[in-house]
Amino acid sequence: MITPASHVAAMTAYALADLEAPPGKRLLSLSQNESLRPPSPRAIDAATRALTATELYPDPDWRILRHALAELHDIPAEGVLCGNGSMDLIAGIAAAFANEENAVLAPAHAYPFFRTAATRARARFDTAPELDGCVSVEALLSAVRPDTRVVFVANPGNPTGTRISRADLIRLRDALRGDVLLVIDEAYGEFTDHLDAPVFDLFKRGDTVILRSFSKAYGLAGLRVGWGLFPAKVARDIRKVTNPNNISCAGQAAAAAAVADQSYMRQTCDMTSTLRDRMIGRLRQAGFDVPASFTNFALLRLPDTETARRIDAALRADGVFLRPQGSAGLPHCLRITIAEADRLDIATVLLEGLAERTLK
Ligand SMILES: *Cc1c(COP(=O)(O)O)cnc(C)c1O
Repeated sequence: MITPASHVAAMTAYALADLEAPPGKRLLSLSQNESLRPPSPRAIDAATRALTATELYPDPDWRILRHALAELHDIPAEGVLCGNGSMDLIAGIAAAFANEENAVLAPAHAYPFFRTAATRARARFDTAPELDGCVSVEALLSAVRPDTRVVFVANPGNPTGTRISRADLIRLRDALRGDVLLVIDEAYGEFTDHLDAPVFDLFKRGDTVILRSFSKAYGLAGLRVGWGLFPAKVARDIRKVTNPNNISCAGQAAAAAAVADQSYMRQTCDMTSTLRDRMIGRLRQAGFDVPASFTNFALLRLPDTETARRIDAALRADGVFLRPQGSAGLPHCLRITIAEADRLDIATVLLEGLAERTLK
């Protein structure tokens, strides 16, 4: 009999969105935090042109892309590593720095893939409580054990949508031991660039990694491109365990062209924030508990798991798919991705109707 490795046998498969619309209903997916619009036309052109040379392997050093990112963010190109989505880099970090002798730590309601990456590396996965849906630096520090090797913090958080300041991140980093790698996952960083100074400079310490993604603000989720700023020594070990040809030529070309079109990406963020805040206002008016969000989604906090399940089921019956948050330890919550105005409005109107019946 063929049996998996014991740590794999004990794992559950990563839960992606279930997107099967009921018969006769059009699918309206607000479940995967995809961008509300396609990427910059320049990115599509660049990817299309790249298709004429697909007999060749892609550039394993992502030279054009990493130089574009270096120039944009005023960071050294040598420190940039790119991944097949930032998930690729998250898995690489866990594989390179954690194993069965140690532990990975994250906030209790963090991005669930941190747990998957730690478990794949056979490490223990510890969590620290959050404070009213927000990462708590004190709780994280109290949860550090002698065998903690990696701390993952998404900022802003997914699915919470909340953020902590640069000052808090520096306080966390300064209080962590020097042998603990801090990973700051800024998959939604472009949505908050206007609020605080960037934290890219922390990589210079040698013990901190900053991750970003092209899947959210840049609208390139389908091409799978993520990147991060890594200390040289950390980068060397991660490259040992990641696929050396990890991003397709089309993905690299599209991402580099998207970087060159900042005004398009900024406009996407502005459109998203406006629609998000308008929807949050309406849902609060209807009686829902929705915390402020710094991302391209909002979190609906229902009074209990059963109410969340009923609202989710009612919306699904109409083909509208939100994302239940049991895997992030928030089974009473539903996450809503911000889509274009007309699609988002369909969901908002349905929720306003459901508030009457479910929040009494
Ligand atoms: C979406 C998301 C990712 C994954 O991004 P990819 O680049 O598509 O792999 C990583 N971290 C967080 C917090 C996310 O929400």
